[in-house]
Amino acid sequence: MQSLSLPSPGKVNLRLDVVGKRADGYHELRSLMERVSIADEIDINIIEKGITVTCDHEGVPNDESNIAFKAIKEILAYSSRNVGVEVHIKKNIPVAAGMGGGSSNAATVIKGINHLLKLKLTKDKLMKIGLKVGADVPFFLFEGPALAEGIGEQLKKVKSMPKLLFLLVNPGIPVRTDWVYGRYQLEGAKYGGQSEVPNLYRTKKDVAKILHNDLEKVTIKEFPVIGEIKEEMLRLGALASMMTGSGPTVFGIFADKVKLGKAFERMEKKASRDWKIFMAENLDAA
Ligand code: ATP
Repeated sequence: MQSLSLPSPGKVNLRLDVVGKRADGYHELRSLMERVSIADEIDINIIEKGITVTCDHEGVPNDESNIAFKAIKEILAYSSRNVGVEVHIKKNIPVAAGMGGGSSNAATVIKGINHLLKLKLTKDKLMKIGLKVGADVPFFLFEGPALAEGIGEQLKKVKSMPKLLFLLVNPGIPVRTDWVYGRYQLEGAKYGGQSEVPNLYRTKKDVAKILHNDLEKVTIKEFPVIGEIKEEMLRLGALASMMTGSGPTVFGIFADKVKLGKAFERMEKKASRDWKIFMAENLDAA
């Protein structure tokens, strides 16, 4: 049996502008995205036949509705071998949290099967296959900080990104991405955003300056705890704080490890029982 274990990292949106809406209903975005050091662990086995996906998290399906299942089907179509695939996901990334866990799992499975079955598909081709599975999947195959446009699939390389130290707090409330965009629309969406987002960042402060998320106004109104966590991050010394993606996870950027460690301890004392608190770094400082 051929098998492989791979990490499947989450992401944060350092900036997210909603710039328009397409005729097919998808929102057009401009977003600065970066992978973080909180990762699921994925075991991939090539088996005789069939597809199975299991996950140790009760909020994630164990059947064909798991996004990894669709990813397996798409990539297997490029193999001439008549084989099956078994995948097990150990979840560490909070689910439905704005951290892209499902999209990352799909990307990792595509990358892993390309390797195991020696399909030799290029990164570009893998990203195209990923897009069929989900708008954020190409980003995780791109493997670097990126400026994402379109529905998230047009990716431009960010030239320079410093090492970032994050405190992340997930308040454990389920926030559905489609609900957030629907509400954004209902509440008189403003389209346009900042027209130019820089693609070169030298210092943490350069990054802290550009943090912005158009979707926050929707989520904070419905779930004030998101705003409270942001305020607490700043009280604890964060250079800046923001909600990632469609939320509800909030991250703060800290100047150094000592400040981050202290903030982590104080946030733990403050936290309700359902909150999950993490320290992380960006994966792709360059
Ligand atoms: P995004 O930031 O891309 O909006 P998210 O972090 O908000 O993503 P996910 O954790 O990717 O959300 O999952 C959203 C929903 O998709 C969950 O409710 C979950 O049931 C379902 N799902 C299907 N497959 C997976 C998977 N492999 N991992 C996580 N969730 C999955």
